[in-house]
Amino acid sequence: MGAKDDSAATAAVATDVVARDDRGAATLGGVPLDDLLARGDWGTPLYVYDLDGIAASARSLVRSFEGYPHLVAYAVKANSAGPILRALSAEGVGADVVSGAELELALACGVAPHDIVYSGVAKTDAELDFAIAAGPRGILALQAESVEEIPRIEARARAAGRRARVSLRINPGIEADTHAYIATGHDEAKFGIPRSEIGVAVETILAADHVDLVGVGNHVGSQLLVTDEYVAAARMLVPVFAACEAAMLQGGRPPLELLDCGGGFGIDYGKGCPVTPADFVHAVVRDLKRNGPAHARIVIEPGRSLVGAHGVLLATVVMQKRARPSGEERRWLMIDAGMNDLIRPALYQALHRVEPIEAPEGEGRASYRVVGPVCESSDDFGAHELPDPPPRAVVIRDAGAYGFTMASAYNGRSLPTELFLSEGRVAWVLPGGDPRAWIASRTGARSAT
Ligand code: PLP
Repeated sequence: MGAKDDSAATAAVATDVVARDDRGAATLGGVPLDDLLARGDWGTPLYVYDLDGIAASARSLVRSFEGYPHLVAYAVKANSAGPILRALSAEGVGADVVSGAELELALACGVAPHDIVYSGVAKTDAELDFAIAAGPRGILALQAESVEEIPRIEARARAAGRRARVSLRINPGIEADTHAYIATGHDEAKFGIPRSEIGVAVETILAADHVDLVGVGNHVGSQLLVTDEYVAAARMLVPVFAACEAAMLQGGRPPLELLDCGGGFGIDYGKGCPVTPADFVHAVVRDLKRNGPAHARIVIEPGRSLVGAHGVLLATVVMQKRARPSGEERRWLMIDAGMNDLIRPALYQALHRVEPIEAPEGEGRASYRVVGPVCESSDDFGAHELPDPPPRAVVIRDAGAYGFTMASAYNGRSLPTELFLSEGRVAWVLPGGDPRAWIASRTGARSAT
């Protein structure tokens, strides 16, 4: 499992959001990307997102429930940019957050507390306090990831004089067929309450006066390319929901409300993707209509599938290097984007499509190893067929999810600027890091003494 790259796929379903205009230049959201680079003083590396495409993907996912009670809670970790959170919220999408800062951001971007679920294995007291204090009733659900977390939540709710709404995140013990680093629902993972401890969790909740159990949930992993594991994980929640609810009712507590199936819908990184996000929803809804609790509202937590394809990373080609280390010629294309800007290739062995921004000048093609400037051998975007002579700039596709949010200032490199397109124009700019500010922060303004 560990050797599998997280962009592997089988059959093809086209999701071509990056198109070519009549000059042959790459476009996103109808905007020619070479014009963007020529017009602005944004520089590269530069993230560009299509807000209209993101809103459309959310709309189609919401519609796929066909009236079944649900909440689409966007996994903010995939891309936490405010313009994206606001665009999704306008489509009726809530948020799945994993830190106090993400929670505060979601609230500031207009997501209602009752549309927010909060996962995370090590929430601090301050983070619990913030979630419990949000809105008139706290957030929709604090997802307890261990039995040990329940008395901690109880203590914080008691101190605040409020009730905390808690959902049990169960570890389903399912090995998802994906990269080891994004498989979260197996027995060795740190996530979720083991099945063997569900009974203890229920007793702990019944002993807690300031905690209401509002649901159960799980998340098997990310970049899932078949619906089977997702449906199996949802199916295992049904008897858990029923047993937990029976115990709560017997204890004089309210019935459960939520059945949270998590996120993880895979996308096409260029080798095709045999499933759409709606396929996951249809499969789960079909199953729950037959066997599920009639009054449960389904929560899903998609991240990547809403934003991944609608974001690109633009980079300038710095130079070409040619050498014959063992007889055969090798070509490296050095670009100004690195693993600090987009870590997925280095971390998950992911292969993103790398394409020229402008139309190639001639017919020549060559195979290049596309690499960044970071001082690590893993700063490598893989082998790509590109024009010869090389293009002046490239577009790295499908970089809208787990791109900027995982970026760092490693090697003293500034965080990239982000542009947000809507209706064919630049609607928002989030400026990147300032190298002067980085130097000042590392220099240290004052000594500790
Ligand atoms: N929910 C939980 C609990 C997660 O851990 C993740 C991803 O790590 C997600 C949702 C979002 O997954 P994806 O972006 O693959 O939809």
